[in-house]
Amino acid sequence: MNILREFFLGFVKIHILYHAGKEGFCGADMMTELDRHGYTIGPGTLYPLLHTMMKGGYLRSEKKVERGRARIYYSATPKARIALREIRPKINELVSEVLE
Ligand SMILES: [Zn+2]
Repeated sequence: MNILREFFLGFVKIHILYHAGKEGFCGADMMTELDRHGYTIGPGTLYPLLHTMMKGGYLRSEKKVERGRARIYYSATPKARIALREIRPKINELVSEVLE
């Protein structure tokens, strides 16, 4: 696997955890959000990633009907919140070194 892509996928997962913990999202909104952060992620990458994160116990999904359209919304589990708490100081450490 391409190392740079592996790093970016890690960053993307953190963005996903963060947003799942804030307000939850549907896949289409997350693609827009990631694009805003500079990551072009197609459904063929995003959905398997969301699925893996669900299987790992970090995300839960819920079907909601909005204006007649069924959409799957993803939100954070307690395990995701714990993970985020552990990740934050590491990000801080990384940023303060790498961006010194
Ligand atoms: Zn964001």
